Amino acid sequence: MSLVGATRLARFPHLATRRPLARPFSTAAPPRPRSGYARHLIAAGLLSSVAGGSLYAYKNSSVIYADVGGHEANGRVSQVPPPPLSELVRTYIVYSLCSVPFLVDWSPTILSTLMAIPGLKQITEAVVRVTFFDQFVGGDEAEDVVPVLERLRRENKGALFVYSVEVDESAASGAGKLSSSEKPLAHKQIVQENLHCIDVAADFEDRHAHGNAGKGTWVAIKLSALVPDAESLRRLSKFLVDSRPRSNPYIPFPGCPSPSDLDVLASGHPNEALTAADVAALRELREDLAIICERAQARGIRITVDAEHSWYQPAIDAFTMDMMRKFNKLPKAGHASWFGWSKPVEAPSGTFQPLIYNTFQGYLRRTPEYLAQSIAAARAEGYSLGVKLVRGAYHPHEIEIHRASSASRASVTTSSPRSGTHDVSISPDNMPPVWLTKDETDTCYDSSVRMLISLVREDVEACKRTGSPPSIGALFGTHNWDSANLVVDELVKQGLAKNVGDGKVFVSDEAMQRVAVAQLYGMSDELTNHLVERAQASAPFVLKYLPYGNLAEVMPYLSRRAIENKSVLGNGGAARERRRVASAIWTRLFG
Ligand SMILES: Cc1cc2nc3c(=O)[nH]c(=O)nc-3n(C[C@H](O)[C@H](O)[C@H](O)COP(=O)(O)OP(=O)(O)OC[C@H]3O[C@@H](n4cnc5c(N)ncnc54)[C@H](O)[C@@H]3O)c2cc1C
Repeated sequence: MSLVGATRLARFPHLATRRPLARPFSTAAPPRPRSGYARHLIAAGLLSSVAGGSLYAYKNSSVIYADVGGHEANGRVSQVPPPPLSELVRTYIVYSLCSVPFLVDWSPTILSTLMAIPGLKQITEAVVRVTFFDQFVGGDEAEDVVPVLERLRRENKGALFVYSVEVDESAASGAGKLSSSEKPLAHKQIVQENLHCIDVAADFEDRHAHGNAGKGTWVAIKLSALVPDAESLRRLSKFLVDSRPRSNPYIPFPGCPSPSDLDVLASGHPNEALTAADVAALRELREDLAIICERAQARGIRITVDAEHSWYQPAIDAFTMDMMRKFNKLPKAGHASWFGWSKPVEAPSGTFQPLIYNTFQGYLRRTPEYLAQSIAAARAEGYSLGVKLVRGAYHPHEIEIHRASSASRASVTTSSPRSGTHDVSISPDNMPPVWLTKDETDTCYDSSVRMLISLVREDVEACKRTGSPPSIGALFGTHNWDSANLVVDELVKQGLAKNVGDGKVFVSDEAMQRVAVAQLYGMSDELTNHLVERAQASAPFVLKYLPYGNLAEVMPYLSRRAIENKSVLGNGGAARERRRVASAIWTRLFG
């Protein structure tokens, strides 16, 4: 066991029993057993070692920056040292593999063959570590990632820091093989690790940030990792979908949360939809989330809640709304008095708004109405709305599950009772929850960008008049060049950023407090660098989603990175990344 692994086990002695989690951010096909994913990646790593030859001696967890060199931010010039040659070679190999679908698809078979040969397991793991792990993961422990945070900050980039333990979908849907004794311990350790993650982020910011507004390290959490069994979230989702009054206009599944959603947890074991164990686990989740939010508030670290499969979303939205209502609460607006308008009540010191962000997936058909409803609810209830906008990571899986569920329903009406194998879907709608074409998702994403930035402009103006804290914040997670550039263009159009020549803009401090853009660590670094160059700001405006965890824990995340690279960098994108790095290697070697 590595030293870092031993340190974490000393802190959380039951970590060794941690179960695997649901699969976030996957554009991959429907779930396969976790071991299959692991084999997939490890085999890919092995292949890469064969292809690349001399990676064995290399261990470095940093990423490639396409246009490395100095860049200016608010008059400051930061000299970014060029990446080591070994790092360029690693990236070249990883992206070469991602651009050969045959290798990615067959790697599980290759891996299982290699793993069957005695003594090869350690070698394969070592190879994965120096390839995919170092490309996409910041380190084993939160503390290991601090040098990466430092490096990103020197380049005026922030981070969305995340402890990347995940649950296998098969376990999450109740088909997992884990013993009940190991489950309760594992999720509590994950809560603890999330608190630790906040502390490490905050300690880093204490050394670097100038005032709360400029804090560039956020923390992401995933709710399915914080319960003993993700099925509790699915059952709560089903209960909510079945019991919420039908909205007018109708909002497609997974619907829209209501402030009373979690009242069901107050009444013990109230109905057949939820077991007593579900209610106990979900109450505990609510308490744990309050502890996480309190820590984040005390330490001044923004929290984003990741979006997951649609059948968890009603519950995730309900918990996130609950968190926003408590922790994004805005001071009451000024009221008339004999002496004129009184000042708004000050927010508690050390906090800034919004503190908590929910994730909105542009590929969901509900998103336009859901976003509008969320804005209306935040205004009515007096809390600041935090929106992380992404396209959504589970499109093929959502379509697959919907099809299977529809087929299963049809067979129930015509012949035998429902088998239950496709009951993962809880949608009452005939249409799948996601758009059917990429164009529809793109339109939804981009129109949400426009709407949110126009709201940010209104908010900046309102806050100037009233002196109140921001009532909206938006983090745009995307690798799409058009959407990322649209964010910057809209900031200019709305008067929130100024052209400073050479195609560059300067983002006002008010906008920078409310708007950020992010890409995944190890992916689309050319876009990240372009945004940092183009949109200058006094503090990080561009973030990297930066996971950490030991090799076994992050293996599902790594497997998705390989597969998602096929999708995200599709249409020759991975090949383009590879060519870009090849050209950097050529320049390094031959000038
Ligand atoms: C910082 C960050 C945080 C993220 N957090 C989350 C999260 O919490 N939850 C989550 O689910 N994902 C998350 N993701 C992943 C994200 O949802 C996308 O999967 C990924 O970013 C690809 O979309 P894109 O905008 O980058 O690129 P693009 O290549 O422009 O878009 C690809 C996306 O388009 C959509 N799409 C593809 N084909 C179709 C089709 N036929 N019909 C309809 N839509 C289609 C899918 O959503 C696909 O992922 C995150 C990504 C980033 C960068």
